[in-house]
Amino acid sequence: MINNIRNFCIIAHIDHGKSTLADRFLELTKTVEMRNMKNQYLDRMDLERERGITIKLQPVRMIWQSQNSNVKSQITNKSQIQNYNNSNDLKFDTCDFEFTNSCKEFVLNMIDTPGHVDFSYEVSRSLAAVEGALLLVDATQGVQAQTIANLYQAIEQGLDIIPVINKIDLPAADIEKVSAEIVSLLGVKLEEIFLVSAKTGEGVENILNAICEKIRPPKYDNDKTRALIFDSVYDSYRGVVAYVRLVDGEIKKGDRIKFISTNADDEALEVGVFKPEYQKTDKLGAGEIGYIVTGLKEINDCRVGDTITLVKDTEKNVVALPGYKEIKPMVYASIYPADGDINKLREALGKLKLNDYSLTYEPENSQAFGFGFKAGFLGLLHMEIIKERLEREYNLDVIVTIPQVNYQTYNIGQKIEYKEPWATLDIVTKEEYLGNIMELAQRSRAIYVATEYLADRVLLKYEAPLSSIIVNFYDKLKSVSAGYASMNYHIIGYRSGDLVKMDVLVAGDKIDVLSQVVHQTELHAKAHEMVTKLKEFIPKQMFQVSLQAAVGGKILARENIAAMKKDVAGYLYGGDISRKKKLWAKQARGKEKMKKLGRVEIPTDVFIKLLKY
Ligand code: GDP
Ligand code: MG
Repeated sequence: MINNIRNFCIIAHIDHGKSTLADRFLELTKTVEMRNMKNQYLDRMDLERERGITIKLQPVRMIWQSQNSNVKSQITNKSQIQNYNNSNDLKFDTCDFEFTNSCKEFVLNMIDTPGHVDFSYEVSRSLAAVEGALLLVDATQGVQAQTIANLYQAIEQGLDIIPVINKIDLPAADIEKVSAEIVSLLGVKLEEIFLVSAKTGEGVENILNAICEKIRPPKYDNDKTRALIFDSVYDSYRGVVAYVRLVDGEIKKGDRIKFISTNADDEALEVGVFKPEYQKTDKLGAGEIGYIVTGLKEINDCRVGDTITLVKDTEKNVVALPGYKEIKPMVYASIYPADGDINKLREALGKLKLNDYSLTYEPENSQAFGFGFKAGFLGLLHMEIIKERLEREYNLDVIVTIPQVNYQTYNIGQKIEYKEPWATLDIVTKEEYLGNIMELAQRSRAIYVATEYLADRVLLKYEAPLSSIIVNFYDKLKSVSAGYASMNYHIIGYRSGDLVKMDVLVAGDKIDVLSQVVHQTELHAKAHEMVTKLKEFIPKQMFQVSLQAAVGGKILARENIAAMKKDVAGYLYGGDISRKKKLWAKQARGKEKMKKLGRVEIPTDVFIKLLKY
């Protein structure tokens, strides 16, 4: 039988147009009716739509009638090609592939993925569920740090890669330069690069045809059943839903299924595919991507990366699929329930983890806030998203403390010393910004490693303390490079450094959740910043509040918040009662989001503010 399934994902740097290209695919394949169509259709969470970024991977199944046996890689936008020909001998030939497959109707399973570095785990999991990847590069931006990082992951997985240049409709598109970058990065021929505008739809059909032709069909074994869980979600109606790639065999509705690593067994209550909404089917066959509604009572029994097999295959000794590497958090922060209800928070974290396997958490107890969880995140955006999801999806009010990297402590005599995580730091930029960036890197304690060239752009390689690149570094990088720099990093290990613990005292009480490990060179600046910001963010209390930052017993910075007058509306003497009422109401509203920190009431969002402003 001819296998007409093609599984692929779209990878790119953030904002290079993955979700928009996916929109065009959904239209061309008539997967979504035109009247229901909206931009970035696959960004299904409100949070994604509000922020205009993809956070979650999203699979969708499409049917495509491959129209002809000529897959043209190039569009015929004459001016661009003319330009190209004038400046260079190289030429965009249209290339003709013979369809070796006689089959014309294809099932395309696509997984749209996020581009932001904080969500790269979504990408790596998607890559393991498919045979091919479209590597999308913005014609006005060129190859960026996440383009390279995602590409390397795809190569490591042995995927068939189709390079695509997007946004060719924009006047600033520089197809020539960007193609040269892709050629030097991938070692492909120019004519293997596809040109599209995901916005206007130009060239998009060619890509669908190329997917059918250039991405290999899934290979499978029908003697046994194995499905890789690449994502999962807790659905309040259905319970635990596993997103799977059927690697071998098939799973039908009603089959007894078994989760190999957790050893749980259960019934497949429903199986189906993503349109992208759930659509029930009778079975999921080998090579397909779909979902299984499980009846699992214990949500931890469904683990991303685990293999599902059939209970009746048990005696066949089915070996688990390779699964996924455990992912290590980059930053940690503590999460506390504002109302003190730790059970509700625990349950919410458990359900959220089903849908975000990169989230880690363990119980913690703070003097200031009581019971909570120390949680690990892949970055600050990830942290912010988790906080928002807890609030929106689980209706919780949570306090998230200042994020810190993980410091290792060790004793030298009586003294506690710290080791901090270091990371490789890759920066892609233009030559003219090298000076600025090198200066920024130096200020951030980074150590220069090497420079590589990518056509006319530069890949700078550094090693840097994770703490100095995880907070605000990207913003600084953007500003010193007029936006022409992108970065990527990964942890390489722990190194000792000149680090001390800075304590914060509010009204004389040491507040544990405000303590931070700080590098000596930044100590005085950080101490000063901490007390001035706290002064700004903590409202006046009934008494004067002193704010101090200290190391050991030594005070490094100090501020005072003056006591407030008793009645907030007191100064509005005279008869304007409605204005007074408004003020009282405002005061009452303010109260809802307050939490006692020692003897002092502070707003629950003070930590986020400390970070951002
Ligand atoms: P993603 O982060 O890779 O998913 O990128 P999106 O699909 O969300 O697109 C990022 C932005 O680029 C959006 O504002 C899109 O409208 C825009 N965009 C995407 N493709 C094109 C294109 O081909 N031409 C133009 N002009 N804009 C595009
Ligand atoms: Mg997107």
